This record gives sequence, C-alpha cells and structure tokens, in this order.
Amino acid sequence: NEALPSNFLRTHVEDDLARGAYAQRRWAGAPGFAANHRQAALDPARVRTRFPPEPNGYLHIGHAKSVCLNFGLARDYGGRCHMRFDDTNPTKEEQEYVDSILDAVGWLGFEWKDAQEDNLYFASDYFGAFYEIAEYLVQAGHAYVDRQTADEMRASRGTLTEPGRDSPYRDRPPAESLALLREMRDGQHPEGSMVLRAKIDMRSPNMNLRDPAIYRIRFAEHHRTGKDWCIYPMYDYAHPLEDGLENITHSICTLEFEDHRPFYDWVLERAAEGGFFDRPLPRQIEFARLNLTYTVTSKRKLQELVQSKLVDGWDDPRMPTLVGLRRRGYTPESIRLFCDRIGVSKADSWVDMGTLEQALRDDLEPRAPRAVAVLDPLKLVIDNFPEGQSEDCSAPAHPHRPELGQRSFPISRELWIEREDFAEEPPKGFFRLFPGNRVRLRYGYVVQCTGFEKDADGRVVAVHAEYFPDSKSGTPGADTYKVKGNIHWVSAPHALEAEVRLFDRLFTEAHPDAGGRDYRATINPAAKTMVRAQLERTLASAKPDDRYQFERHGYFVADRTDSAEGRPVFNRAVSLKDSWGS
Ligand code: ATP
Ligand code: MG
Ligand code: MG
Repeated sequence: NEALPSNFLRTHVEDDLARGAYAQRRWAGAPGFAANHRQAALDPARVRTRFPPEPNGYLHIGHAKSVCLNFGLARDYGGRCHMRFDDTNPTKEEQEYVDSILDAVGWLGFEWKDAQEDNLYFASDYFGAFYEIAEYLVQAGHAYVDRQTADEMRASRGTLTEPGRDSPYRDRPPAESLALLREMRDGQHPEGSMVLRAKIDMRSPNMNLRDPAIYRIRFAEHHRTGKDWCIYPMYDYAHPLEDGLENITHSICTLEFEDHRPFYDWVLERAAEGGFFDRPLPRQIEFARLNLTYTVTSKRKLQELVQSKLVDGWDDPRMPTLVGLRRRGYTPESIRLFCDRIGVSKADSWVDMGTLEQALRDDLEPRAPRAVAVLDPLKLVIDNFPEGQSEDCSAPAHPHRPELGQRSFPISRELWIEREDFAEEPPKGFFRLFPGNRVRLRYGYVVQCTGFEKDADGRVVAVHAEYFPDSKSGTPGADTYKVKGNIHWVSAPHALEAEVRLFDRLFTEAHPDAGGRDYRATINPAAKTMVRAQLERTLASAKPDDRYQFERHGYFVADRTDSAEGRPVFNRAVSLKDSWGS
C-alpha cells in the first residue's frame, strides 16, 4: 500500500474524522421536508464529497483534477462521492453533455454507485426543496421580493470602496413578500420585473453579502423539468442547499469561490435554523484550479474552438477534453497519475504540459507492446539479398518483459527505412546510412551502403546496400560486426501502409490567454500532421484504443473513431522524450 499523499484537504478530513465530527449526525429536518427531499438511506456519518459539473460542455483535464480529488478523498476515508449535475440553469444544459460527463467519469475509473447507494443526483430534482426553503426565509424575515429594476439594483449595490444602499422594498412585511414570491412562481410577473433577495447587509465589505439575489424569473424550458418552473434559483443559493440535501461533509471548489463562502455558510445556517438540516453543516473548502501550459481549460473557450472549427470537435486529439485525451491515446491511469503528481494547493499556478505527457510515458512504458513504424518511408534495396525471398527476424514483444515472448517479422530484398536515417553527405557525428558506411538493421543484418538513386528533382528515392549473411542478430558471431548505427525498418512487400497522425501543442504560447490576449490568436496551425506510414504487418490486427510503442517514435494508439477492421489509423499520443525543450 502506497502511503496516502498528504495535502491540506486530507488534513482537513482527517482532523474532522479524528474529532468524530459526523458521528452524531442524523437526519432531522422540518416535518415533511425529509420525506419529500432527502434520500433516507444515506448514512450521515460518512465523509461525503461531490463532483458537481454543470452539464453545459465536455469535461476537460481541469475537471479530472476535481474528479480525482473528490472521488479519491471519499475512497480513502471510507466515504462516498456524489456524482451531481448542477443543472439549475435552464438555458445552457443538454442531455448530450450529461451522457458524456457520466461516460468520462466512469472512464477515469470512478463509480458513484455501489451495493448500498446510488449517488447520482440532479440539482433540478431539488427545485421543490429550494423553493420550500425560500418561503421559509421570507417568513423568517431573511429574504424579500425586490421590485427595483436591474439598473437600480446595480446602482444601489455600491462598490468595493463604497457601501451599498438599502432597497426601498427591503423592509416590506414578510407576508407581502411571500404573496409576491408565490405570484412569481405562478407566472404572474414578467421576467426581470422582480427578484427574491437575501436580506443580509448592504454595507458588508464582501459584495456577495449585499443582499444577493436568490431567485429570478425565467420563462425558460429546462432539459429535465420542462415548464414546471418559471423561477430559477441562483447558483450561490442553490449550491449550498444541494450540499445540505445530500449531507455533503466537504464541499470542495476552486479558489474563485472563496469570497462566496460567507454566503454559502449564511444559506446553510439559516436553513439549519429553520430545521431543514442537521449539524454539522457542509463546509466549503477551496483549492487552486488546474492551469496547464499550451492549452486552455475553460469550457467556454473549448466550446469556441469547436464552434469556430479551429479543431475537429470536442474529441479532437489536440483538445484537453477527456474525450480528446482519450482519443489521443491517454489512459485513465495516466491521468490519475498526473493528478496525484500535481497534488493540490491553495495558490494558483501553472502546470507544465510536460508533466501530463510524462505521466503517460510512465504509465505506458511498462505495458505497451513494441512495434516498428516507418513514418517517413524511403526505399532501401539490399542488392545481394535473393529476390522474391524473405526470412523471419525476431524481437522481444517488450524489452523488459520476457514473459510477453517474441514477435517475428520478415526481412526481404526491399525495405522501408526512415528518410532521416540516410544522408548523402553525412554531417559530423552521423552514424546512420551514408555511402560506404555500415549500420545494423535492428533485429536483422548489418548492411553497408553502396549508393543511392535520385529523381529528376534531385530527391533521393532509393538507397542501395549489401548485407552480410553471417551478421544476423542473435546468431553466433553476429557481434563481431562493430557498427555505431542501428536503424529500424520494415520489409516493403510485407508492410502495412497506414495513416498516422502526429500532434504538436494546440497553442504556440505557454499561456495562450495571458494579459487578456485572445487565445485564438496563438493557435498552432501545425498542431496536426498526417503521414502515410509503413508499419509492421502485425499492426493490421490492432483494435481501436490499442496502444503501442513504435520504436524510436513514441507511444501510439489506434484511433477509436477512424480505424476500420484490418485498417487501423494511428495517433501519436506522446513522443518518447520531452522534445519541447521546456
Ligand atoms: P469551466 O470554467 O471550464 O466552465 P466550471 O468550473 O464552470 O469550469 P463546472 O462544470 O462547474 O465547470 O465544474 C465542475 C467542477 O469541476 C467544479 O467543482 C469545479 O471546481 C471543477 N473544475 C472546473 N475546472 C477546473 C480546473 N481547471 N481545475 C480544477 N477543478 C476544476
Ligand atoms: Mg461552474
Ligand atoms: Mg465556468
């Protein structure tokens, strides 16, 4: 068992558990409320976290950090993590996103359902509870219906240096506010004509406490509740109640919500006073969001990339979405490893893209079978090899795992080699093929270059060589040939021609949107190249999502969308070494 990584979130949870914070918690609740709105089966003594995405886009690598954190804490402390859709905003949400988010979280290796509990929730299921608590707040004098216009409200809100002014409707009797709230709910008032506001303090130094709106009128159809409601709760009001309703213990969110925490606590305290929730109440804890260099982690920006066709969809392998990373060849294990390595902190910072890439290499190195691919093919003719014949060469399936056995592939008179492995005039220190020089064909014979052919444009179209029949790798005496170069190859008549896609970073700048720059201006137009490669024949049987190390080139995956039976298309997930110079 690996020691659990330590961080401030874990310390928080451990301290709470050590003092038995949840041991005494039961379900209480106002009469009727519990039965209507709570899952009676939920064990209130457990640590409960939640992952609460809004279903308005695809998950990205930043969300993965939150998923790993929340599900990881629950797993490590005998708790549960709730999969909750924060779908209180009627206009932007769609079933397509719900499905893709569930799929992505499951793919990452986390489950919200076990033998005792099914912790899949939709905040929209709580609309009734939110409303019931709103009526309580009004009756208890903690909320009022404000008829000011949006402009008036903005003007009276004050600024960071100036206190706000009370609304003329602030002190209307609760019964009057209650009647208006019910009329709002019943659709008797137009959008924008009034809002329900919390009654807190217009002079608070925290702007979020200056009587924030908690309900607004929207005649919008919701993707799950249809036209049941024409008033919708504000996020800052709904979120703490969602946590309360689910008996969440630690509500982990990103730093920008730090200023919202006093209102989060205010809502829960008032609801607890009203008998809706039992103590201890959920606690909000903030952590720094993930920023990754050379990409953007904002759903809105990713959506813009898709809509403006700067990428080929949400699952484009250049995208930092989980569907994109998956298609690119990332494994769930590599993403979890990455999230463990970056840890959590309280200070915003940037993580280098190289850290993500290294996690993938470290995950795939011990398990990806090896294969040969020539990405930029140039013909090599071994003139003294018998025409029309071939013989088998053998290589380990994995260099450090003999238990995986050997693979074999033919050598013949005509081979494909990498164009960059030949030089007409060798630069200094070049040990590969050039006229007169000898190299070893990896797992095959030593050959000596005898010449080359060019086409009318002066481009080299074939290289000629002769082989030494007693130099075959693995045969006695083969190592009396001392050569410095060792190149990979595939037999031309046996090779599988295939499309291979190579990727570069999506943006040319480490911080694409630094200083308010339009991130789209720094998009890398060369982030995707396609080559016709010549591959080892055995790769014809690659199934979608099968991953390999192509020797010298990196880790590749058979594209899960474009591969066909016997005709795989490969994506390079990551090169063997960090070639970005960072
Ligand atoms: P975006 O800004 O990309 O739209 P969001 O925070 O609005 O993200 P949500 O769907 O609300 O998206 O996110 C669900 C959860 O994922 C939230 O709890 C949020 O804190 C977390 N999350 C989102 N982006 C990141 C990130 N870059 N790093 C860490 N956690 C994140
Ligand atoms: Mg959000
Ligand atoms: Mg957002």
